[in-house]
Amino acid sequence: MTITTESTLSQPSLPDEYTSIESEVRSYCRGWPTVMDTAQGSWVTDVDGRRYLDFFGGAGALNYGHNNPALKQALIDYLTSDKIVHSLDMATVAKTDFLRTFNDVILAPRKLDYKVQFPGPTGANAVESALKLARKVTGRESIINFTNAFHGMTLGALSVTGNSMKRAGAGIPLVHATPMPYDNYFDGVTEDFHWFERVLDDSGGGLNRPAAVIVETVQGEGGVNVARAEWLQALEQLCRKRDILLIVDDVQMGCGRTGPFFSFEEAGITPDIVTLSKSISGYGLPMALTLFRRDLDVWTPGEHNGTFRGHNPAFITATKALETYWQDSTFSDETLAKGTLMRDLMEKMAANRDGISARGRGMVQGLKFEDADLAGAVCKAAFERGLLAETSGPADEVVKLLPPLTTSEADLTAGLEVLDESISAALG
Ligand SMILES: *Cc1c(COP(=O)(O)O)cnc(C)c1O
Repeated sequence: MTITTESTLSQPSLPDEYTSIESEVRSYCRGWPTVMDTAQGSWVTDVDGRRYLDFFGGAGALNYGHNNPALKQALIDYLTSDKIVHSLDMATVAKTDFLRTFNDVILAPRKLDYKVQFPGPTGANAVESALKLARKVTGRESIINFTNAFHGMTLGALSVTGNSMKRAGAGIPLVHATPMPYDNYFDGVTEDFHWFERVLDDSGGGLNRPAAVIVETVQGEGGVNVARAEWLQALEQLCRKRDILLIVDDVQMGCGRTGPFFSFEEAGITPDIVTLSKSISGYGLPMALTLFRRDLDVWTPGEHNGTFRGHNPAFITATKALETYWQDSTFSDETLAKGTLMRDLMEKMAANRDGISARGRGMVQGLKFEDADLAGAVCKAAFERGLLAETSGPADEVVKLLPPLTTSEADLTAGLEVLDESISAALG
């Protein structure tokens, strides 16, 4: 089965502007060399009318699909009535409504007594503010991060990111961060925590007392590495015992990707600081939040500021998303059921072939290829068949799927059939 119906279409291509004007730093348009035009739900259409089923999902920014009708209407209504769009962090009706709804629908029912900070509108900015706050609260410099972590491209966020190519881009030493093995880093041979606990306790261990630990519950960019609930619980206990702050970076796995609103809910842990971005606006509009325990709120006014903190159109769609999807557990239950469907089909694809294994939680699922080059070849074959999926992992050896959570079961099944064909095509 192929999704693209018109067989008479020419090969997709990019206009010259992309090579002659845009910087070499561009990336996604290289793997998907066509001009995207319209998008609705889980489908994107290019300028020639080719349709693509989107299992990339804006890298996690499109959990409710492209141009979600409920969110779009709220946004249109806001814009057509000349409501204020840009207001830095002044008080606005849109902001009041967001704060109230976020508290009533998300924080209060989960008994999370967090203050809400609006950093600049990117995930990296939420991470920067989390690290700054942890350092300010504790008076300590060093941060513990994990192997294969991804936290963003600014210097502080890069310092706690694993990928050596991205780190090299900094051009200066990235300091005050110490990587520890993520869950299952040693394939279960060594209990990963021993190392961390040992060096913390050992006066000869050479580890400065850390301000905080920053962790993803599932490493998205790092290759869909899933931490077990027990591992996260042990990490929380270790932080509590030694008075180290626990930061969960939920930029990609939050907003329902793994089922519950926060990805750490399943493990029953309560981080001291949480970062959210990507799908928090619900519409693909830039927005980020840093959440932290009330008693950690030691900021002085304006100490971490920025021009685009509090983008009102993003507040409007964010509030609408919370009202539409998070008033009860229906949406998260559906996500878990769809995640199981994805996982079952992907386990089958892996079981039929050598050198492929399935991994993931909720609606973030991946296939790891022992031959790393195959993962890229599969994504290329998938694109040719009308399916968008990207690779992740240190060697780009994992095909990572992040379909919008609103994707129908029929589309999920159809997309996974295309993936199956793409693997066969890549294996040749
Ligand atoms: C994407 C991502 C970031 C960075 O977000 P940007 O908006 O790209 O700055 C940080 N942490 C995690 C876990 C992410 O997936």
